[in-house]
Amino acid sequence: MTDSPTPLAEAGGLLTIDLGALRANYEEIARRVAPARVAGVVKGDGYGIGLVPAATALWEAGARQFFVALLAEARALRAALPEAEIFVLNGLFAGTEAVYRDAKLRPVLGSVPDVARWRDFCADIGEPLPAAVHVDTGMNRLGLSPSEAIGLAEGRQELGFPIALLMSHLACADEPDHPLTAHQLEDFRAVRALFPDVPASLANSAGAMGDATLHFDLVRPGIVIYGGRPRNDLAPLRPVARLDLRIVQLRHVHEGETVGYGGAHTALRPSRVAILSAGYADGIPRLAGASDLRPGAEAVVAGRRCPLIGRISMDLLAVDVTDVPEDGVLPGDWATLLGEGLGLEDLARHSHTIDYEILTSLGQRFHRRWT
Ligand SMILES: *Cc1c(COP(=O)(O)O)cnc(C)c1O
Repeated sequence: MTDSPTPLAEAGGLLTIDLGALRANYEEIARRVAPARVAGVVKGDGYGIGLVPAATALWEAGARQFFVALLAEARALRAALPEAEIFVLNGLFAGTEAVYRDAKLRPVLGSVPDVARWRDFCADIGEPLPAAVHVDTGMNRLGLSPSEAIGLAEGRQELGFPIALLMSHLACADEPDHPLTAHQLEDFRAVRALFPDVPASLANSAGAMGDATLHFDLVRPGIVIYGGRPRNDLAPLRPVARLDLRIVQLRHVHEGETVGYGGAHTALRPSRVAILSAGYADGIPRLAGASDLRPGAEAVVAGRRCPLIGRISMDLLAVDVTDVPEDGVLPGDWATLLGEGLGLEDLARHSHTIDYEILTSLGQRFHRRWT
């Protein structure tokens, strides 16, 4: 896989993406859920690691069905994977029907008007083009209600196009034993019984890690494949993204002086501070910073965990490297924010967010290397 356009010598950070780990994670989930099949979920630029590299690796690992959120993502994916079955989750936007036909994409019809528009389009062009149908079972986000799905089943003869997939989405599978999951499963089974010939899909990552009754014909795991945690109580599979940030300066700070905007960090001892060339414009959450009142995230410098200090700026952040031996760190060296034992969960926890948001926010200014 080729490297990204930002040359390494110019980049404030190096994002290394382990596509072998991505494939291994896919294969691990495929083993766990067999005989159900495993789709590739590559929305959000492949959860931030690159749509085409992610999708190509998942195809190599055996994925044949893919899910994206938007049509533009689907078109980019089609160019890379001519044979894949590609579903577009966010529904059928009016006026886009012909793009689906031309690129052989499948809309996920998520409302009665979506269904009507696709039926009319198929009638107009005289081609029964397959589409997926999304049924809402309690998420209240996208999908036909169960009673609308009953109406669809009753009018199936006149529908005029084949249903390629019947799907729903779990709202609380990340909390094992949450009662909503059982309700969703019950409703989905009832609807599914009306479409016995259609393949069915319910589970995201958390559902894939859960009970086999959630798996149906096709599971749609995203985050677990990308090395994130689908549930707080489960360890992640292999990490996929590693992030190293360039140290641009090392500074001495006297006891009592402050570091960064707002003077939010006060040095309690004579300190050495490494200034790293990345900030919130690169997707490092501002909440990962620290103050005198509250610790922040950590970075690994010369094999040692060092605390971030002060506020995170747009393009820079500071790390206290006082405990690293003087000759152990020099300007131009790299500090690791993800990797060397620091996982997405560490950064996410300090930033009051989830692994998903860390990954999908990782900026475009880093040099990217797919290995
Ligand atoms: C994003 C998404 C998934 C994948 O979710 P993860 O929690 O990342 O596994 C599956 N299905 C739908 C409908 C989604 O929007």
